[in-house]
Amino acid sequence: ENEQSGQVLPEQPDLKIIRRQISGFVGFANLPKQWHRKSIRRGFNFNLLCVSQRGLGKSTLINTLFNRNIEASSEIASSERSDDVNGKMDGLKLEDSQDEETETNGEEDVTSSVKIKSYTTTIEENGVSLKLCVVDTPGFGDAIDNTGSWKPIVDEINYRFDQYLDAENKINRSLENDNRIHACLYFIEPTAHYLKPLDVEFCKRVHEKCNLIPIIAKSDILTEEEIAVFKQRIRKQLDEANVKFFQPPTYAMDDADTVRASSALFEKIPYAVVGSNSSVTDKEGKTFRGRSYPWGIIDVDNAKHCDFVYLRDLLISQYLEELRERTNNVLYENYRSEKLIRLGIKQDNSVFKEFDPESKQKEEKQLHEAKLAKLEAEMKSVFHQKVSEKEKKLQKSEAELFARHKEMKEKLSKQLRALEEKKHQLEVSISNQPAQSPAQTKKKGFLR
Ligand code: GDP
Repeated sequence: ENEQSGQVLPEQPDLKIIRRQISGFVGFANLPKQWHRKSIRRGFNFNLLCVSQRGLGKSTLINTLFNRNIEASSEIASSERSDDVNGKMDGLKLEDSQDEETETNGEEDVTSSVKIKSYTTTIEENGVSLKLCVVDTPGFGDAIDNTGSWKPIVDEINYRFDQYLDAENKINRSLENDNRIHACLYFIEPTAHYLKPLDVEFCKRVHEKCNLIPIIAKSDILTEEEIAVFKQRIRKQLDEANVKFFQPPTYAMDDADTVRASSALFEKIPYAVVGSNSSVTDKEGKTFRGRSYPWGIIDVDNAKHCDFVYLRDLLISQYLEELRERTNNVLYENYRSEKLIRLGIKQDNSVFKEFDPESKQKEEKQLHEAKLAKLEAEMKSVFHQKVSEKEKKLQKSEAELFARHKEMKEKLSKQLRALEEKKHQLEVSISNQPAQSPAQTKKKGFLR
């Protein structure tokens, strides 16, 4: 008990330490409840991008999904990001628009017909509030030439990632406003034929940037068989184009039923949906949301009639949080790391280089060494110059000495020759004179 209360005990050899297991309720089992309370207080937000050609029932479907008139109850914001989205972040002024621009090959004129419109509203259900933002793309696929009409939409997704990245990099981070696109509903025209090139192109451009969920719009105009064949063709076409759509994740702790339900949801993509904002009454007097035809009634909330309920499960009731999580952990992370790598490459090559202490030190060392080498070379050349001057001087004086020596030698030998001549003459004159007395000889010798 003393040990548990954290007291330091004096050393006692006979002391028995009894370790007791903590039993009973600690309280961490309440964590989910704490989390739940906190989430409720904070509320949720969800940004849904809807891409469709005009008249495919997009407004109707969104209103059916959230069971209200979204447009009427929302704050509406329009933006044309196609021209100004790139390179305009406050914090990281990146000029990364080049790659995309080169890809589009000057398709700006075509893309300008696509607009971005956001509808933001807060909806509540059983005390849970959801801040919903539906991002509409009026004009997509409506032009005669739709080449590049994906670009303003991709720009919008990037712009929203950039906004978040910018907020993350600020000293006072405010990440409460998450404007990133959490899911993209792509409406496919119910042709029962094949996907159009624009459909494939769009899916290719966005599937790695947002959770893509393709749906077959107004599927009530197709028969069950047509839907089955069309779904197969769509999946094949997108698979061949390496397009991945959102797959509900499963975890090791999930039971078999959850795993089965999740894979069933995935296999039904692209959902063949029907939307309706009006109620119809059947023969038995039952009223439901649906569409009425001469041949019968379609109940949009009935899984036997269309895939609307599967879409609602995937998008809202079962996997909304997974869509948000994948956006944050996978899609945004990829975007962020790619962007920072690009920033890193720029740092190496340009302005940021001086901030790298290692290369700065290396550069300074090289400069210092170059200075030393230059100094050494200069000293060497001065030394060589001095040595050669001295050598020249020595050679000159040697030559002078030699000349003087030669001159002296000649002078001396001339004197020697003259003396020898004189001696010879004297000897000759002595030998020619008559013999004299030794005294005379002595006197003469003395006089000489
Ligand atoms: P948007 O232009 O894509 O927003 O399309 P709307 O939601 O305004 O719908 C265009 C027309 O299609 C309207 O007359 C709707 O009543 C109709 N419509 C919407 N959803 C469906 C559907 O699931 N099936 C059928 N047959 N018609 C629909």
